[in-house]
Amino acid sequence: MNQLLEVSGLCVAYGGIEAVKGISLSIDKDEIVSLIGSNGAGKTTTLRAISGLLPCKSGKVSFQGKDITTLAPDARVRMRLAHVPEGRHVFPGLTIEENIKLGSYTRYDRKAIADDIEDMYQLFPILKERRKQQAGTMSGGEQQMLAIARAMMSRPELLILDEPTMGLSPKMIEVVLDTLREIRSRKTPILLVEQNTVEAIQMATRVYALRVGEIVSVLAGESVTEEVLKDFYLS
Ligand code: ATP
Repeated sequence: MNQLLEVSGLCVAYGGIEAVKGISLSIDKDEIVSLIGSNGAGKTTTLRAISGLLPCKSGKVSFQGKDITTLAPDARVRMRLAHVPEGRHVFPGLTIEENIKLGSYTRYDRKAIADDIEDMYQLFPILKERRKQQAGTMSGGEQQMLAIARAMMSRPELLILDEPTMGLSPKMIEVVLDTLREIRSRKTPILLVEQNTVEAIQMATRVYALRVGEIVSVLAGESVTEEVLKDFYLS
């Protein structure tokens, strides 16, 4: 079976207000899938429900053929569902190396963990240079790299990224794009929320466009140009 994630009829509410209204989407094992939509469309809410940080009001989430709709977030992490939230959330008082190691907390294969840390340092040389430095002293772009490296340490079956280029300089956006390309070349599936960086959206095999909690179109990533994105937000 090639299907990795299947979301069907997902509804998520904050109190009485429904933010996600019955959306259905799927991700195959070799895919990058993107969610786009204007502010408040329900992108972050959808990601949080998939990783178990918000309860589903109704609908179903299946991962690797298993119904995980009511599974606790840490159990989903153990199933190798890794979520890098909006705003990064690294541990500012810990060093970069300590932050990276935290990403492997579900693993016990010490030799492989050490190899993976080296691998992350290859992928992000700046993290190696600064490995003894407190994470809170790094720039936004560097913290984004660290958050992605930490998630990769769990050897995810699905990597969920919420607006990884948000608030970054053009130079740092390029670094994040290179990272996405590298992760894609490693065949790690990605569920990506993006609003601004068209190049990231174009990497997706499929793009679901959300508007006020509903999927209004499904597009091929390569068809999403700046114009399409702009039209979509303005319409
Ligand atoms: P953005 O691009 O601004 O991050 P988004 O598409 O990720 O937007 P969500 O953050 O999922 O949108 O929000 C969807 C809706 O749910 C919005 O109307 C928002 O105001 C509402 N919402 C989000 N978080 C909460 C919360 N904690 N309590 C109440 N309402 C919330």
